[in-house]
Amino acid sequence: MRFYIFFFALIALSSCAENKPQAVTVAQETVTNATPVPASTPAPVPEMLLDTTFTVDYIMGKFEPATHPDFTEINPPYSDEKRYLRKDVLAAFIKMYEAAKADGINLKVESATRNFANQKRIWEAKWTGKRLIEGGKDATKAWPNPKDRAMTILKWSSMPGTSRHHWGTDIDINEFENDYFESGKGLKVYEWLLANGAQFGFCQVYTPKDATRPTGYNEEKWHWTYMPISQQITQLAKQNLRDEMISGFAGSEVATEVGMVKNFILGINQECL
Ligand SMILES: [Zn+2]
Repeated sequence: MRFYIFFFALIALSSCAENKPQAVTVAQETVTNATPVPASTPAPVPEMLLDTTFTVDYIMGKFEPATHPDFTEINPPYSDEKRYLRKDVLAAFIKMYEAAKADGINLKVESATRNFANQKRIWEAKWTGKRLIEGGKDATKAWPNPKDRAMTILKWSSMPGTSRHHWGTDIDINEFENDYFESGKGLKVYEWLLANGAQFGFCQVYTPKDATRPTGYNEEKWHWTYMPISQQITQLAKQNLRDEMISGFAGSEVATEVGMVKNFILGINQECL
């Protein structure tokens, strides 16, 4: 893999147009720190290695998968609708799909890449009460305190800029209900994935919360990641992203308070790290 030395000062991303197509493969990127660093901010890492394919904009989903050279369409029979994945990830998924099919198991991608703009629509619909959550509640009324509201939405949905679905490495398979995977046909699918997913590079990201995974999103039996690529991006996110950089949508002001990077981006199944 090609690495370039990348000099890092805190990046002011608030000025980035959220949905602007942009080249993500660059040899170097000049960054400046436009705002004073709060006292609680960890010291910036002075020098680090950053795979230049995975810039901070890439990690935060600030690109268009439809025009990105590393992405391709995913269509039937792998997905009922046109979606996008990284080419390397789709190739790995197709191998897994075929092996599953030979065992009588049908795998269908129900969600794939979502960029910052997609995730902003999902998040803000919940944040503003336009889309009801938690059994029909308007979040603005049920959780008027911004931190409480964020923590409730964060049971299931990521803040824009922090979703693994930005990366083109993560997929949701078959159904968005844990119940589906706990009996009958769904249980067979889940048992097959647990037994065979790893040999194709796939790992369940959001396992039950316990001592080894004390923070993060609720268990999602449907969300799987292609580790050979996402492990690198997770490490780059750990090194490069700071909560203060998460901005550009309603509710982003509590990103630091809830500890998005530490508690959510890194709050995953240790086996996927
Ligand atoms: Zn997912």
